[in-house]
Amino acid sequence: MKRNTCSGCSLLCDDIIIKSDGIFIDEVIGACLKGKERFDQTTAKNRILNPMIRENGELKETTWEKALEKTIEIIKSSTNPLLYGFSNVNCEAQLKGMELAESIDGFIDSNASICQGKVLDIANETGITLTSITEIINKADLIISWGANAAESIPRLLNKTVFSRGKFRMTGREIKTLINIDPVKTASFNVMGVRDLALQIEPNKDLDLIRILMEECCTADSIPSKGVAGIDKSDLKRLLLHLTGAENGVIFVGQGLLKPKLEGTNIIKELLDLVQMINMKQERGRISLVLLGGHFNMAGFDQVALSTYGKNGSLQFKDNQLIETQDTIISKINSDDFDSSIIVGTDPISHLPFYLSKKLCTKPLIIIDNKTSATSQVADIVLPTAITGIEVGGLTYRLDQVPVELNKIINPPNKIPSDEELLTQIIEKLNSK
Ligand code: SF4
Repeated sequence: MKRNTCSGCSLLCDDIIIKSDGIFIDEVIGACLKGKERFDQTTAKNRILNPMIRENGELKETTWEKALEKTIEIIKSSTNPLLYGFSNVNCEAQLKGMELAESIDGFIDSNASICQGKVLDIANETGITLTSITEIINKADLIISWGANAAESIPRLLNKTVFSRGKFRMTGREIKTLINIDPVKTASFNVMGVRDLALQIEPNKDLDLIRILMEECCTADSIPSKGVAGIDKSDLKRLLLHLTGAENGVIFVGQGLLKPKLEGTNIIKELLDLVQMINMKQERGRISLVLLGGHFNMAGFDQVALSTYGKNGSLQFKDNQLIETQDTIISKINSDDFDSSIIVGTDPISHLPFYLSKKLCTKPLIIIDNKTSATSQVADIVLPTAITGIEVGGLTYRLDQVPVELNKIINPPNKIPSDEELLTQIIEKLNSK
C-alpha cells in the first residue's frame, strides 16, 4: 500500500492510499467518489485502447503507424492549426504542446481561457492576493464560496478547509465561518452550520452586491432597507462585518462569477478592486482569493506558458515566433480562423455552445485522449494516451498554484504512450519529413 496523489480534480489530494500489484489497482482508500472514478478509469468501458482513423465516414481501429502518418498528413496540409485542451495532462505534455504549436505556426489555448484564466488576465493589470490550501487550513477564520459548488465539483475542498484544525489555531470548525453566495441552493449549502451565512443571491446580481460592498466598506451605515440583490439588510451587514473583520479570510472564486462580460462591466475586475480596498482599509487581517478551476492541471498551462513564453493564456505563433494575440478558443472558432484542430484531453464538442461545436466539426479534427467522448465521436483521428497520475507521473499545479509531482502507479495497457511521448513523436515525425 502506498500513499499517492489523486488527479481527479484540481485539489490534487496527496493522502490517497493505493493498493496495487503494479499491474492493476486493487483498492483506493481516502478518495471521494470523483477520485475513485478517476482510478477506475484505467479499466472503464469507455477507455480508448487503440488508435482510430475515420474511413468512409466511420471510425475504425488502426495501427499506430497509420494513425501517425495520417496525423502528420493533416498537420502538414494545415496552415492555421488550432491546439486546445491541455488541462488534463502534465506540465511536460503542456510544454510539448506549445513546442508543437510553435513548430507548425499554430494557436494553442487551454480550458483556462474560458474559466479561471480570465481572472489571471485581469490580475495582470490589477494584481491579485492569492493564498494556499495549507494557509487556509492553518489560519483561515472566514471562507466565502462565491458562485461555486465546491461540494460537488471539488468534493474534498470544504472538508479540508472548513472542517480542519490548523497548526496555528487552538480551534477549528468552531471559529471558521462559511459564507455561500450563489443563486442556486447547491449541495455546498448543506454543509452549513448555525454560525454560517447562506446568501441566495438573485441571478446575475453579483455585480450589484460587489458594488454595495465597496460603497459600504467598513461603514455599513447606508445599506438600503430593502437590501440588495435579494439579500436583506441584516445579512448584508453580517457579510460586511465578516469581510472587514476576518483575520484570515478567503474567497473561493467559482464559475458563477466568470460570466461573459456585460457591456461596460467587469465583475472580476470589480471583485479584485473590492478585495484590494478591504485589505487596505481593514487593520486586523486580510482577504485572499483561490480560483476554483476544475481540471487537475488547469493552473499548470498558464504556469508553463508564463515561464516559457512570458505570457499566460493563449499563444499564437507565426514564422515559428510568438506573436501578439487577443484571441481565445472561442473567438478563433467563432470567426472560422482555423483549418484543423488538435484537441488534447478535453471534450469541446460537449462543453462549447452548439454553434461553436458545429464549426469545430467542419475542419479535420485530431483528438488525443484516454476516453471516448462526443469529440472523439466526430474526430478524424483518435490517438489514445496513458492516464496522468496513474499510468504516467509528472508535474502539475494545484488550484492554489502550488506545484505537485504525480507518480506512476501502474503501466498503461497496450503500451499506450503518455501525452508527452505522443506529442514528442509527432514533433519528431514532422521534423523528419
Ligand atoms: S477532491 Fe479531487 S483530488 Fe481530492 S480525492 Fe476527490 S477528486 Fe481526487
